[in-house]
Amino acid sequence: MTINIPQKAEQILHILNEAGYEAYVVGGCVRDSILDRVPGDWDITTSALPEQVKELFHRTVDTGIQHGTVTVMMGKEGFEVTTYRVDGEYHDGRHPDAVTFTRSLEEDLKRRDFTINAMAYHPGNGLVDLFGGMEDINRKIIRCVGDPVERFTEDALRMLRAVRFSAQLGFTVEENTKAALSRMSGNLEHVSAERIQTELVKLLVSDHPDYLRTAWETGLTREFLPEFDACMETAQNTPHHCCSVGEHILKSLTEIENDRLLRITMLLHDIAKPVVKKTDENGRDHFKTHGPAGEKLAGKILRRLKFDNVTIRNTCRLIRYHDLRPTPDAEDVRRAVNLIGEELFPLYLKVQKADLLSQSTYRREEKLARLSGVTEAYQGILERGECTSLKTLAVSGKDLIKAGHPAGPALGALLERLLDCVLKDPTLNTKEKLLETAEKDSIKTE
Ligand code: ATP
Ligand code: MG
Repeated sequence: MTINIPQKAEQILHILNEAGYEAYVVGGCVRDSILDRVPGDWDITTSALPEQVKELFHRTVDTGIQHGTVTVMMGKEGFEVTTYRVDGEYHDGRHPDAVTFTRSLEEDLKRRDFTINAMAYHPGNGLVDLFGGMEDINRKIIRCVGDPVERFTEDALRMLRAVRFSAQLGFTVEENTKAALSRMSGNLEHVSAERIQTELVKLLVSDHPDYLRTAWETGLTREFLPEFDACMETAQNTPHHCCSVGEHILKSLTEIENDRLLRITMLLHDIAKPVVKKTDENGRDHFKTHGPAGEKLAGKILRRLKFDNVTIRNTCRLIRYHDLRPTPDAEDVRRAVNLIGEELFPLYLKVQKADLLSQSTYRREEKLARLSGVTEAYQGILERGECTSLKTLAVSGKDLIKAGHPAGPALGALLERLLDCVLKDPTLNTKEKLLETAEKDSIKTE
């Protein structure tokens, strides 16, 4: 087993070894190298104490000095070098009260979360795999190092990491580890919203976003996204669907490209369906207004998970309009672009496609035909450079004032009416024609 270590990381190992210390690359980079994935960062674990590391290298940053981590700068690149350590008692269900340094690599590997993350590598000594990490990689299994219940009791974040790694790698959570997830899921209350958000996003933008199902099966979503559990429990008795709202959501995640905003949108696009569901006298279910209701509920959820305002705004807007269905008529599409927004419209088309492909096949051809008609009409609008917002209207408020129209709130309304004319007939979008239209308009409204 050989791993190609970047030269700078190898140099760090060499300098530490020359000074008489042990040093290995460890954790995610070893796992990813074995899996032929590109490691995000190359972490180093060493028997040298932080002060000793700092003596050996010119430029270091005290990244997490109390946990033994020093970042060694090699040119512009930083490498985290952490002293072999044992974590002390855990009292808050998330962080060790204290850490102690040790001279034993085995002790250091034992404190790591999963067997696949607990391997170290040194170009001279080869792979150090004390907990069957290689075997678990081959069997595609996420398994805790040691007793899973204990490990999740120590640090509840590990539960989300288990599901996230399984989604990123396409691995199965091993039986005992999975049982421990179910048993300990309530401990997620010890994990901050920010950490939950980070893990959730990593899961969503992975190759297997539908592995969120594992988080549901084990009771994890009940803790941080109970609205999703409600979706899993909501049947849809309508020809358009063949499964529960939750299963439809999971399918839709796999039908959309791997993009953060799009995946978050699909996760929440139907989140209000359980709330607005109405069953008619024939037993058929209806979900009227689930778009606007979803916008509201998604906003609440995203704020609770401490998402940034731009993400919240864009996601909520896409959710509000995800079920808007313009005809392929150019005017209808221009009005939809105006309503949804020029930046978001192309994303809205992707959301609709993924949504549609996750429904039953009932009238699918017809639905796809409408959507490709709309997409074509939209392309035409772009090619012809037609105006779909006040931004590109050929007159501004200033122009209207100059032409003698009174400033004030009436001016905004006048601009909106002019835009309305242009959405109907794009050839009107010249200054001359619009001033003329404005003139007639004000005579009419006087
Ligand atoms: P990635 O960086 O791709 O998310 P990673 O495995 O490198 O994956 P990091 O969070 O960077 O994950 O952590 C580096 C290593 O530290 C892990 O591989 C694991 O050995 C250990 N580790 C990280 N977080 C924990 C934790 N909460 N409990 C136990 N060990 C952990
Ligand atoms: Mg990492």
